[in-house]
Amino acid sequence: MSRTLRRDQIPEPVVEIVQKLRDAGFRAWVVGGCLRDLLLGKEVSDWDIATSALPKDVKGVFRRVIPTGIEHGTVTVLYAGGAYELTTLRGEGAYSDGRRPDEVFFVDDIGEDLARRDFTVNAIAFDPTEGILVDPYGGLEDLDRRVIRAVGEPAERFGEDGLRVLRAARFVATLEFELDPATEAAIGGQLDTFAKVSKERVRDEWLKTMKAKRPSRAFEAMRRTGILGVTCPTLLEQVGCEQNQWHNHDVWGHTMETLDASDGKAIDRIAALLHDIGKPETRAHSDKTNDWTFYNHERVGAKMADRWLRKYRFSNEERTDVVHLIRHHLICYSPKWSDAAVRRFLRRVGADHVGRLLALGRADAIGKGRPVDEEMKALAELEGRIEAVLAAGAALSTRDLLVNGKDVMERLGVPGGPVIGRVLGALLDQVTEDPALNDRDRLLAIIDDLGPAELRALQESREGKP
Ligand code: ATP
Ligand code: MG
Repeated sequence: MSRTLRRDQIPEPVVEIVQKLRDAGFRAWVVGGCLRDLLLGKEVSDWDIATSALPKDVKGVFRRVIPTGIEHGTVTVLYAGGAYELTTLRGEGAYSDGRRPDEVFFVDDIGEDLARRDFTVNAIAFDPTEGILVDPYGGLEDLDRRVIRAVGEPAERFGEDGLRVLRAARFVATLEFELDPATEAAIGGQLDTFAKVSKERVRDEWLKTMKAKRPSRAFEAMRRTGILGVTCPTLLEQVGCEQNQWHNHDVWGHTMETLDASDGKAIDRIAALLHDIGKPETRAHSDKTNDWTFYNHERVGAKMADRWLRKYRFSNEERTDVVHLIRHHLICYSPKWSDAAVRRFLRRVGADHVGRLLALGRADAIGKGRPVDEEMKALAELEGRIEAVLAAGAALSTRDLLVNGKDVMERLGVPGGPVIGRVLGALLDQVTEDPALNDRDRLLAIIDDLGPAELRALQESREGKP
């Protein structure tokens, strides 16, 4: 790894912004996570600049300046087609609530600015116009050693801002670094501060963590340090929770391996993380098989996940998707399934969720920690059969039927009411068994043939009634 930076490694517009500030009599540095990512050869998403110029001075230098965080001295400069955050160099007052500095005062010294940053690898600054690199805390060396180490006294830094412990765990996963032992040891004593962090910020960190190749690195760090016990104690109950003969791991080990094997959107990895959250509570010993059972864990787990996702302010769509995936994650496919069984499965899961569920199923199989060729083959077979069902245009909801509610009302001579939906549901059940029945004349004939006893049964039936 290169221990120096050159001007030509910094995008030209960023260099120009620094130069323009200098020409106006100010100092400016490229600073923080962007240099870390650049030095690691990763793609840099945001270039941040620290400057001695106050926001009002910046407005005098650039034409398009948006006051994005004026109280923290941050403005966004639109320049050469890009957006760049410029923050006035700052020191900070005391943090009395563990969340926000009580006062921000602007200073004219990059050293003080770097001192308030969280980890050494994030506390590097570079002036590309002069080629000067400022690294007072050994950030470059820690990049080489692949270590996350707090700037200054770890306990103090974690006590100032509770989010930092979670950022530390996230970087362990996204950068594939280790926690410096003294930094890790300080986390346990600062969990009260962490507990005050808003649920939204914790949620956002968890979602960012899911971008890592192996998010389990972060969750193992959270388990070791006690962070997980604050955010999701029910996951901790998986540790040491022994499973049945089909698994090589306890539930926690299985969850971690499933999580790493999962991919797709961050929210699908949240589903992988939570998919067996119901196992510890439902575990029971069966004398018959002399093994553990987890009867109904997918239902119990779906409810638990729903509560947790509400608490952590996930969007309604994210929450219902995750709950749905957990609720149906026991696919239990067998080649003996009839085509009608494949269609019933597809109706339960929904065509728009089935791809995500199969992906979770594959990760879940890999998570068993033993050879799973057979299970993978079965899932591939199921996937092929699902594709065939979809290609054949099978009816999966009452909307796909070739009759509608109006037809039902006319044929039955009733004005409407819940019975209409139930008749359509009964027709869909028949069409699921035999797709050839989805023919307008045949469906109308079935409606005409409904006898008084059948209609009464449909009238009285209620969803959820046994
Ligand atoms: P990422 O962009 O992947 O989230 P990052 O480290 O760049 O990681 P940002 O939120 O973009 O994080 O913050 C930019 C820089 O600001 C960081 O590199 C760090 O120097 C500083 N920083 C961010 N959050 C904190 C914090 N909670 N405490 C101290 N310094 C922070
Ligand atoms: Mg960043």
